[in-house]
Amino acid sequence: MKLAVIGSPIKHSLSPKIHSYFGDSLGLEIQYEAIEVNRDKFKESVIKLFESGYVGLNVTLPLKDLAYSISQNKTKLSQETKTANTLWMKENKIHCDSTDGPGLIGDFKRKNISLKGLNIALIGAGGSARAIAPSLLKENPRRIILINRTKSKAEDLRNNLREGKEKVSIFNNTQEQEVSPEIIINSSSAGIKGEDLVLPNNLFNKTKISYDLSYSLVETPFNLLAKEKGVPTIYDGKGMLLEQAALSFRLWTEREPSIPTEEEIFI
Ligand code: NDP
Repeated sequence: MKLAVIGSPIKHSLSPKIHSYFGDSLGLEIQYEAIEVNRDKFKESVIKLFESGYVGLNVTLPLKDLAYSISQNKTKLSQETKTANTLWMKENKIHCDSTDGPGLIGDFKRKNISLKGLNIALIGAGGSARAIAPSLLKENPRRIILINRTKSKAEDLRNNLREGKEKVSIFNNTQEQEVSPEIIINSSSAGIKGEDLVLPNNLFNKTKISYDLSYSLVETPFNLLAKEKGVPTIYDGKGMLLEQAALSFRLWTEREPSIPTEEEIFI
């Protein structure tokens, strides 16, 4: 079965390794490649790949909005998030789904973290924040404190939510918080770009868990900051990466892969 992840840059993607593991775990012959595709020729590249026998595609930065817009059959979740990271062809139509949000929740469950009744700070309002916000709200948190540099993007995110808007409060990066979040999720790309991330002074006062969607073999800049501020438990996005990959794999193969530990894959 031919599968691929498309994006730009894509050379360092871990997806081929993860999906090969899934294939091996089920005895399925999987050929999963990382293919450089840019925004200019996105639609024609996708169509060519499906015509040449690819069964499923993962889509990563900076193409998830295009993946959504070219699809002819969109799941409810991808419609709400206006983004897609998984494509497949069925009955001559491009189908899409967004597995990032359920992937993050899957990782919280694997880590025995319940979001019910908690105050969550979500930093960033870009593509990944849009993708995860509805899934976070479905877990019935008390409040989502949405902190973003550009206020209008945070407002767009909130306005597009089908349910739970009233639980989302919007702040900029310098506003002090009245409510201290128990969990902070970082979806900003400041760290990976080597930029400083300004945050409210009292943000970490009661935080028990910090979760950075970015991932790396060493501590991410955001998690280093969280550690300095005394947050006892910190995670990066490797677990989410594995879970969202497993959900895409299920959509393409209708099989349940065994999910490796982070240590088995990220060495
Ligand atoms: P986007 O570019 O869509 O959004 C980036 C966000 O970061 C924006 O809200 C932007 O604010 C904010 N930001 C960027 N630089 C700064 C800065 N210097 N100070 C303050 N805020 C800043 O990126 P994505 O949401 O798609 O991705 C974000 C991260 O999540 C990436 O590192 C990506 O790898 C990771 N990710 C991980 C996944 C996983 O499976 N673990 C899945 C998906 C993403 P503004 O609106 O003001 O521009």
